[in-house]
Amino acid sequence: MKPEVLLSRIRVVLCRPSHPGNIGAAARAMKTMGLADLRLVDPRRFPDPEADARATGAVDVLESAKISDSLPEALTGAIFVVALSARRRDLGPPGGQPREMVARLLAQAEQGQVALVFGNETVGLTNEEIQQCQAVVTIPANPEFSSLNLGAAVQVLCYEIRMAALAGLASPADATATPASSRMATHDEIEGMYAHFEAVMTETGFLNPAHPGRLLPKLRRLFSRTRLERDEINILRGILAATRSPTGHARGKPPAT
Ligand code: SAH
Repeated sequence: MKPEVLLSRIRVVLCRPSHPGNIGAAARAMKTMGLADLRLVDPRRFPDPEADARATGAVDVLESAKISDSLPEALTGAIFVVALSARRRDLGPPGGQPREMVARLLAQAEQGQVALVFGNETVGLTNEEIQQCQAVVTIPANPEFSSLNLGAAVQVLCYEIRMAALAGLASPADATATPASSRMATHDEIEGMYAHFEAVMTETGFLNPAHPGRLLPKLRRLFSRTRLERDEINILRGILAATRSPTGHARGKPPAT
């Protein structure tokens, strides 16, 4: 696949950015590296003259940016989502460095839309946001001062993406695909499966919503280690649906006859 096509399949998602200047800087960082699909989740100030000023010649990227109320909305249709975090979290998807993760991202971009998710300038990404991603990238910065400016973090990733795309460096992550494979599951399909798991686990009493513990984050972590196909999601959801009796309650012991 041509590098331009791969680059066009990569969206950059900024979660709750506070400073419009950083949105402009991100747009400029993207355009210089050949990316164009910018998504903003609940930006504090946008559109804004400060964003335009910092974007300079990349105002077109700002003008075509899509604004969403929530992260799931911004990730609809994406088959692979990578979070950017300066800090490692104790329970989250598998982590890695930019170069290796960019190779995986490009391999997935061969098959569909992919996304990079960046956090707010002050608080970064929440654990809940990170758990919606399949991988986490940390830029290996100075351990004593590891937090880059948001626009700078976007630039580092976009540069790595461009270099890898031009060199044809997509890793053969999906050499496992066979003619029996279905297409990759999208973010919304995977989120639908988690909601289904949660509902069935609550109904069966396996999950106590008052004390959920780490069950759901651990399930997310499990599935983030694999690449789910749409047919596999359908099988898992079919099994979940089969646990429900016609009354809608989970099946326990068979009724006495
Ligand atoms: N104080 C925040 C950092 C905010 S910087 C925190 O501790 O999480 C804004 C965003 O830029 C981050 O949410 C992350 O997406 C990205 N970023 C900054 N430095 C980074 C690094 N070293 N590695 C990966 N992402 C980084």
